[in-house]
Amino acid sequence: MSLIENNNKQATRSEQAAAQAAASRRGPDEIAQDIARAILARQLPPGIWLREEALGRMYGVSRTKIRAALLILARDNLVETVPDKGTFVSRPSIREAHEVFAARRLLESEVVRLFVATATEREFAQLEAQIHHERAALDKSVPGNVREETLGDFHIKLADLSGNEVLARFIRELVARSSLIAMRFQSSNESSCSSDEHGAFLAICRQGKAQEAVDCMLEHLNRIESSLSLEETPPAPESDLFRALLR
Ligand SMILES: [Zn+2]
Repeated sequence: MSLIENNNKQATRSEQAAAQAAASRRGPDEIAQDIARAILARQLPPGIWLREEALGRMYGVSRTKIRAALLILARDNLVETVPDKGTFVSRPSIREAHEVFAARRLLESEVVRLFVATATEREFAQLEAQIHHERAALDKSVPGNVREETLGDFHIKLADLSGNEVLARFIRELVARSSLIAMRFQSSNESSCSSDEHGAFLAICRQGKAQEAVDCMLEHLNRIESSLSLEETPPAPESDLFRALLR
């Protein structure tokens, strides 16, 4: 769980202090990962201002470290810096949404081919455990943000198992950007991954049918993209939650 999520929960004072003490030992890379995880979990909506001093206070680190973390996130297109204004969580455009899904189709096709060619029983078991975890997260008592994060994880785990670290890094970025796209353009839960579709995909991979598995992944990504409501809308007002968090 990211420190941001922890802050948003009604954690006790001592739990928060312990999380903050652990956070203060983190370097810019880890802080960037923590913020990226909060974006993936839809804890930080597109367009929200990431105030350096507030983040520094929250993580118990210097602004220099926060600035370095924000630079890493900017490189991954998860945040954008506006001169004289500050750094904001990226607010993807319609064009960017199409481009992200086009890139995912291309890269994830290759991930699927590599995975089917090299997958071991242990790796299939890891992905099956992930689907099991997704289904458990569908339980209504699990907060929506945790469900979203869990569903996106399937694609990241699959990419990790492809054995190509460069591809896996791109996929991590694109899945996080897809979360921002879904937050901006999602009209219903149809725009999310479905664990049934993940299960059907894995069953095809198990049969060693590489092309069918690629087609199944492409259908899955097409379905998610086509269910987005791609219309320009004005920026959403900041929620009280984030006003409180980044005060
Ligand atoms: Zn999916």
